[in-house]
Amino acid sequence: MENIENREKNKFVVATGNPHKLKEFARILEPLGIEILTPAQCGGEGIEPVEDGDTFEANAIIKATEFANKLGIPALADDSGICIDALGGAPGVYSARYSGGSDDDNNELVLKNLKGVPFEKRTARYVCVICCAYPDGTYFTVQGECDGRIGFEYRGENGFGYDPLFYFENGKTFAEISGEEKDKLSHRGKALRLLADKLRD
Ligand code: IMP
Repeated sequence: MENIENREKNKFVVATGNPHKLKEFARILEPLGIEILTPAQCGGEGIEPVEDGDTFEANAIIKATEFANKLGIPALADDSGICIDALGGAPGVYSARYSGGSDDDNNELVLKNLKGVPFEKRTARYVCVICCAYPDGTYFTVQGECDGRIGFEYRGENGFGYDPLFYFENGKTFAEISGEEKDKLSHRGKALRLLADKLRD
């Protein structure tokens, strides 16, 4: 009985339709004994929270609490993005919709807006806030960050979003390393490991 209860406690719906995020959640959390469900697996396909917060934390809370309330099961939500120093922290919380188009359009706009900026001034940071929310209205958040620089051209085929432009300190972009290597370094990897620690407590 105790085992069953513990297993249920470690089961969460992940409040996202982004298959890349889901893959990274599963890759990191499942080996730690945390089971994740997609919205489609628990009747949550139609839930589309309005992400109108001014911060990553506010948006993560909006998404996780809405899923937990509507589905009646614990929910996890990630709000994340890239903050580029030479652009005053943009695109930040607007990372997904920076250009109004696709990931490629977003990357093109970043390159255009950074035209003429030398490599040493192209510093940037990925930020990921994860909210864990319960149907009783309680929640907590954790945050992970990862520093790097924005390149001048696309490098690599892996990852998603801004990864082909984001250089970590090893001189490679996040799109040139494997998923497992990205997990060790990334904002999301750090936040998910903090989450697992908190859940264990
Ligand atoms: P959200 O789904 O509203 O949190 O938006 C996240 C957006 O930030 C994504 O669509 C990407 O543009 C960007 N982003 C967040 N994390 C990553 C990552 O690990 N790699 C590349 N882009 C990311």
